[in-house]
Amino acid sequence: MTRRGLLIILSSPSGAGKSTLAKRLRKWDPSINFSVSATTRAPRPGEVDGEDYHFMAEADFKKAVSNGGMLEHAHVFGNFYGSPKGPVRDAIIDGKDVLFDIDWQGAQQMTNSELALHTLSIFLLPPSIAELKRRLISRGQDGDDVIDRRMQKSWDEISHWGSYDFVLVNEDLDKTEEQLKSIITAARLRRTQQPTLLEHVRALQSEFEETGQ
Ligand code: GDP
Ligand code: ADP
Repeated sequence: MTRRGLLIILSSPSGAGKSTLAKRLRKWDPSINFSVSATTRAPRPGEVDGEDYHFMAEADFKKAVSNGGMLEHAHVFGNFYGSPKGPVRDAIIDGKDVLFDIDWQGAQQMTNSELALHTLSIFLLPPSIAELKRRLISRGQDGDDVIDRRMQKSWDEISHWGSYDFVLVNEDLDKTEEQLKSIITAARLRRTQQPTLLEHVRALQSEFEETGQ
């Protein structure tokens, strides 16, 4: 392994662009694994079990949490959501990055855990509240009542922007995508992500001592 996998956390109020940008990142670098969350919410039309989410009954979800099977979990919009531990462990061992589309509660649990050193947390802000609502409507997935509920909750999510490593205003999609790629590229070079650095520095030291330079 030449580098350790990053745990890339993407949060935002609903509709700010997480899924859209996550898809673009996966296209940019197919080696980035998506963490498929478990949820107790019902599938939306077109959502595939095991791809979009692992859809679970509440009792099974709670059992998985109490067995220590979730890296983090939270109650969002009246449903439980959580990130299964297994696939994340495998990816990190393989030196692969994992992308999490999770809310501020999950982000906080991960950045306060023993994995904190390897997390990269990014928050997306909308250009305006009016634009956030326009995006939720244009997505065409929810009825008026669900959109209203998401809008009500949006400030709750936005109010946690200050605990993220990076904050991007997602106005122009291409620009935000470029910014995200730059952040990820830089974070991969963090000292803590490069386990073979020590070996390299030792080799430099030997060479230095041998040549007396
Ligand atoms: P969305 O707003 O259209 O993405 O609606 P969803 O029902 O798919 O997700 C609702 C919220 O739950 C979003 O803020 C997600 O980021 C968050 N979420 C999804 N999966 C997880 C998870 O595994 N853990 C946590 N903590 N939050 C999650
Ligand atoms: P989230 O996953 O955060 O709930 P989505 O990625 O589903 O948000 O985005 C919500 C809607 O806004 C989608 O229809 C998407 O195409 C659109 N969208 C995302 N980013 C932008 C942007 N920068 N400019 C215009 N529309 C955007």
